[in-house]
Formats: sequence, structure tokens, C-alpha cells
Amino acid sequence: MLYTGVLTKMQTEFLDPIQYYLVFENDFIHMNQLLNKTISITKVGEQCLSCGLSRPIFRQGFCRTCFFEKPLAGDWIMRPELSTAHLNKEDRDLVFEKKIQLQPHIVYLANSSNVKVGVTRKSQVPTRWIDQGAHEAIEIVEVPNRYLAGITEVALKEHVADKTNWRNMLKNNLKDEDLMEWRDRLKIYIPEEVKPYVLEHNKETNINFPVEHYPKKPNSLNLSKVSTYSGQLVGIKGQYLLFEDERVFNIRSNEGLVVEIALA
Ligand SMILES: [Zn+2]
Repeated sequence: MLYTGVLTKMQTEFLDPIQYYLVFENDFIHMNQLLNKTISITKVGEQCLSCGLSRPIFRQGFCRTCFFEKPLAGDWIMRPELSTAHLNKEDRDLVFEKKIQLQPHIVYLANSSNVKVGVTRKSQVPTRWIDQGAHEAIEIVEVPNRYLAGITEVALKEHVADKTNWRNMLKNNLKDEDLMEWRDRLKIYIPEEVKPYVLEHNKETNINFPVEHYPKKPNSLNLSKVSTYSGQLVGIKGQYLLFEDERVFNIRSNEGLVVEIALA
């Protein structure tokens, strides 16, 4: 079987364990069914996720032009505290920015290798946690726009990490943490204007990934260096495919690559 398409992050289904789907234009692959099978991935081109042209991918699946011009790649995506739609102020496209920024957002604590704070649209819970490879997470604040979530994250990251250590996440070096206790401890650092939006009583969500065994020394696969790779799939965690030989392939950071996937 041979599949060809543009890589975009895997779609997920919150079941036990998580179900993963690689979706192409006219086809999809249910990745869980490939566990313990040998697959090969070949890079055959690049295609911008925004303009659809065959151009080199610059960042986040976008060509250079789209990255610097399209509203979906504005600075407020990565740094929610820079959001200005609530002030009626445009960054690149106010109509688009209002649609995304002026909707319920969640500030959460997630534990993937360490406890971290993060922001996501409410509609992206628990997808965001699955994509990060978190085995447990909790919503701690629900606000009506992205800006308020952003300033909460900025205030909290003085006291808790805001990054995932992907190697530890993939090695499954886990420590079970009491996220309710973390929430209660961090509550005093939440900005005054956000205090009315604190979620006092949420419980942890636990996430179980389809992994047969974890790599001891994960080694990142870069298809720009070797255009084809073949290996036995032994797990999927976050947006990473884990292979028998300890190679790991981050689908998310390879968005926009045109690939052929062959099943042995
Ligand atoms: Zn483009």
C-alpha cells in the first residue's frame, strides 16, 4: 500500500488509548493499526499549508511569504499575551483575529515530562494535551478571550515551566504529579482581572498513548537529510511516531512536507 500526501498534524480521538489518523487529501491512515509493522516514509516535495504552492517550508508548515503575511502566523499565536482583537486593534486581519481570539480560552497545567502551564482555545481541549504528549492535565482558568489567557500564562511561568522537554516526554520519564495541588499553590499568582475566571473544582484528565516501548535515547529523524526512512513503528505519543531503532519522527514539525508512506 502506498499513500501520498502533504503532512499535517495527526488527527486524534480521545479514547483509551488515543487513536491517531494521518489525513491526506483523498485518504487517511489509522496509525494505530500500523503498530509493530514496518513502514517507510519518503520525502518527495514541499507544499505550503496556506497558499498550497510547491515552495520550501519556512516555519509552521508555511512558506516564507505566508509566514510573514498570513494572519494564522501572527506573533499572538505563539505569544497569546500579544493578542489585541479585544481592543479592536488589527495585527494582520482583524476579522480573522476576532474570530480566533474572542472565543473561550483555557489556561491549563499539563504534565508530559514536567508540569507546565499553557494556553489553548477551549475547543482544543483535550486535543492540545494529546498533541503535547501529556499524560495528565487540568484546566485551571477559563476566560472569554486569548489576551486574558496570555497574561495569565505570562504571570504563571515565573513559577512553573512553560515548555515540554520532548526527550524526557518520549523516554517516558514520568512523575505522577498532583495537578490540583499545583493549581491551588499557583492560584495566588493569577492576575487580579483574571481571578473571577478561575476554575476551582476541575479534576485531572488522564491520557494513555499507544506505545509498545519507549526509546532510551530518542534520535530525531530529519527527512531533509535522509529523504527516505524505513522502520518498525512501536508507538505514537504526542505528535511523534516512535520506531524500533529509537528514531522518532515529529509530524508536527514536518508539516508541509509531501511524503510517500509505504506499508510493507
Ligand atoms: Zn505559502
